[in-house]
Amino acid sequence: MAVTDHVNLEEFIAGVSRRNTGQPEFVQAVHEVAQDIFDFIEDKEEYHEYQILRRVAEPDRVVSFRVCWEDDNNNIRVQRGWRVQNNNAIGPYKGGLRFHPSVNESILKFLAFEQTFKNSLTGLPMGGGKGGSNFNPKGKSDHEVMRFCQSFMTELYRHVGDDVDIPAGDIGVGAREIGYMFGQYKRITNQFTGVLTGKGLEFGGSLVRTEATGYGVIYFMQDMLERRSDSIEGKTCVISGSGNVATHAAEKVCHLGGKVLTLSDSGGFIHDPDGIDLEKIDWVKTHKTRRRGRIADYVEAFPSATFHEGEKPWGISCDLAAPCATQNELGAEDAKTLMRQGCIAVAEGANMPTDLEGVKVFKDAGIMFAPGKAANAGGVAMSGLEMSQNAARLTWTEDDLQEKLKELMAGIHRRCVEYGALDGDPDGHGPVDYVKGANIAGFKKVADAMLAYGVV
Ligand code: NDP
Repeated sequence: MAVTDHVNLEEFIAGVSRRNTGQPEFVQAVHEVAQDIFDFIEDKEEYHEYQILRRVAEPDRVVSFRVCWEDDNNNIRVQRGWRVQNNNAIGPYKGGLRFHPSVNESILKFLAFEQTFKNSLTGLPMGGGKGGSNFNPKGKSDHEVMRFCQSFMTELYRHVGDDVDIPAGDIGVGAREIGYMFGQYKRITNQFTGVLTGKGLEFGGSLVRTEATGYGVIYFMQDMLERRSDSIEGKTCVISGSGNVATHAAEKVCHLGGKVLTLSDSGGFIHDPDGIDLEKIDWVKTHKTRRRGRIADYVEAFPSATFHEGEKPWGISCDLAAPCATQNELGAEDAKTLMRQGCIAVAEGANMPTDLEGVKVFKDAGIMFAPGKAANAGGVAMSGLEMSQNAARLTWTEDDLQEKLKELMAGIHRRCVEYGALDGDPDGHGPVDYVKGANIAGFKKVADAMLAYGVV
């Protein structure tokens, strides 16, 4: 009899904890997926016999390396870099690179694990990976960032490739960093291939990639509302973060006739009761990206707003919420507060921004709740299309890609509903457990491919 036949969820998670000591984010991510998968695989003997869940919770490999660079004062600095290649059952490893002082192996393993199911959900042939460094780009000069990126790629290049592993951006890694890393890859290998996505438009990047994650989050929100014969028009929305995902989510809320009330960064949040319109969002983008400024400065530019230092925006009365900053930024108390304030739908732009207790509060209350692995998959889906364009040496038009993004998000929504409709009717208007739907739909494709390969 197969080993997993003898273990229940708690024993399985205890084993994951034991094997991954000091990695709470990774254990949390496995726990969240496993609780849905356990029910789904209960009567599926093959999955047990081939230990699919146990195998999927063990990354294919974790590469860790030293990154030395020289700062502008000629000091030698030493950082740590990683690439976690979680699973390539359905395609080459794909997932972002994060540069942030909080980065560690646990966080990257959790992100690579999540990425595996997210990529599967898009319907495109991409496996799951993630990487990064504890390097802090904040306060560094352009040349310091360039030297760091070059040094990082000098090791990373041997582990990646357009048919092997295709990294992209994430927190702290935007167009500038991707440019420096692609330049170094090209220099070392003498190859112009689609080894990274999120590239500049001049060198193989795709239109619509920059805005795809944030836009996709709001398309998913719209799809959830439409199933209940509702829409974003006229609704208020609180958003956390003020980076790539947050500002583009805000933009799409405005496009669809909603009103954005908040944005935030690691210093606190701003509340603008007049609404953060497209012009104000442009100011935020320029201020945060080009001037590398703080969200607190918003209140000087737009005095209708207030700044709340060290706080999160979940206490502001709203119809919709989109946490778009970072992991574990919304706990059980925040979730209860949001619902008290009248929130009816939450779509996660960040990865795992709601902790396990927070998710439970939303699920128990039966509000529309879209987990990041479904709602924020638009970015990686568009990266998949960047890979296709690179491979075919083609450039698709903006209109084509905007349309494809909407279709991809609708496809992800449909797959979640297929496995998550609580009344078993995917075509009806009934409530959906999007977490369960996303977990099962994402898992099934990967698991079936793993079964086909046998024990490898
Ligand atoms: P950015 O670096 O562009 O922005 C990150 C934002 O989150 C900034 O406003 C930052 O504030 C804030 N933030 C970061 N860490 C913390 C923290 N510990 N506490 C509070 N605020 C914090 O990143 P992205 O917008 O690209 O990514 C945001 C989230 O979305 C991440 O979880 C990422 O994994 C996820 N994601 C991103 C995708 C993409 O295409 N970019 C795709 C899918 C998911 P500050 O400026 O103060 O650091």
